Amino acid sequence: MKLIFILISFYSSTIFAEDIYWVHLKAETKQQRNQLANIIHIDQYIDGKIYSTVNEFDYNNLKINAPELLIESHKIENISTNRALVGDEVFEFPKGEEKFHTYAEANKVLQDLTTANPDIAEFITIGETHEKRKINGIRITHKKNRSSKNFIPGILFLGTHHAREHISTEVPIFLAKYLVENYKASENIRKLVDSRDIYIIPIINPDGALYDIKSRSYKMWRKNRRKIKRRTYGVDLNRNYGFEWNTGGSSSNPRSDVYHGKHPFSEPESIAVKDFVESKSNLRVMLSFHTYSELILYPWGHKNDPIGGREEEVFKKMAKDMSKWNGYTPQSSSDLYIASGDTCDWAFGEHGIFCFTFELSPKTYGEGGFYPGARYIDVVNQANLKPMLYLIDKTMNPYQVID
Ligand SMILES: [Zn+2]
Repeated sequence: MKLIFILISFYSSTIFAEDIYWVHLKAETKQQRNQLANIIHIDQYIDGKIYSTVNEFDYNNLKINAPELLIESHKIENISTNRALVGDEVFEFPKGEEKFHTYAEANKVLQDLTTANPDIAEFITIGETHEKRKINGIRITHKKNRSSKNFIPGILFLGTHHAREHISTEVPIFLAKYLVENYKASENIRKLVDSRDIYIIPIINPDGALYDIKSRSYKMWRKNRRKIKRRTYGVDLNRNYGFEWNTGGSSSNPRSDVYHGKHPFSEPESIAVKDFVESKSNLRVMLSFHTYSELILYPWGHKNDPIGGREEEVFKKMAKDMSKWNGYTPQSSSDLYIASGDTCDWAFGEHGIFCFTFELSPKTYGEGGFYPGARYIDVVNQANLKPMLYLIDKTMNPYQVID
C-alpha cells in the first residue's frame, strides 16, 4: 500500500507536473531582447529589464542559452498539466473570480444579445478548435446592411488568443453588449451600427482558456491545446500566422511557450481567423486583445524596419489618439523585440488591414500580471471604450486621420 502511494506521488509530481518560474532578466540592448524572445515570451519590459513567467522547458533553455542575462528567478507554481480536457466538464473561474466569463457564459451573452436584438445582431461561428469547440462571435450591423449592395466598411475585434489572458475576453464582450444595449438610446451608437459592419469574436482559443481554469485554479497556460505527443501540448497561436512566419521571436520546439507550430496556419484556430478575414473583403480595421503591459502595438513585429508611407502615419496617429483615453504606450511591435507570426503582421502584410494589438492592463507583474483579479474588469472595459468606438468610427476611412 505504502509503495503504491509512493509510486503514485512520484508519478504525479515528476511526470504530470510542470513548474512555472518567474524570471528577472537583464535586457538592455535590443540584441539581448531579441535573443530572449527566441526562447521565452516577454511579459514585461521596464528600464533594461525583462520580467516574465515561463514554463519549465523555457526556463531550462534560458539557463543553458542565456545564463549571463538571468538576474534572478523563483518557482511560482507547480501545476499538474498536459492532459486533454474530457467531455462537458463544468468550468468555473477560481473563487472570487466568477465575474470573468467562461466560454459557456460568453456564448450565452452573444446568444442572448442576438435573440433579443435580431435587427442589429447576428450570432456567428468561424470555426472549430482541436477539442471541437466552436469559435463563436457576433456581427453587429443593421440588418439592411447584410443584404446591401453598398460598401459597408468592416472592423474585427478578437479576444483571447492566449489562454491565460482572460481580460482579453472581457473587453470584446463588453463592447458587444455596449453597442447593442445603447443602440436605441444613443444617436452616436445608432449611427455607427447603421453604417459599419462590426465583428466581435471574444475567445479565439477556448480550449486553452478552459484548460487554464480547470479545477478552478489558474494554470498559467498560454498556447492552444494541440496534442503534439504525450505530455507535450500547444502551439502559440500568435506566432502561427502566415506572414514572415518563423523569422525570429518564436521557437521550433513544441515544448516552448512560443512554439510557432509545424508550418504557418497549422492550427484550426488561426485558420478560422484567416478564412474569416479572407471571406470579408470589407474589413479595414482590426484590433486583437492581449494582456498585459498597457501597450498599443502596430506592425511590424517581425522586423525592425518601419512600414513607411502614409500607412505608417495612419497607424501612428490612430495609436496616439487612442492612447489619450486608455493611457497605454503606443509603439511598433518590434520596438522592444522581434516576434514573428502574429495576427497583425499578417492582417496588414497580407491584406492591408490596419490592425492593432492592445496589451491590456495591468502594467506590471506586481499588479497581478495575467491574473489581476475581477476588480480590474470594469476599469479595463471603461478605459478601452472610447478607443474601440474611435476605431469603429475611423473604419469608414482610416486615412482620414492624417488628411
Ligand atoms: Zn497574448
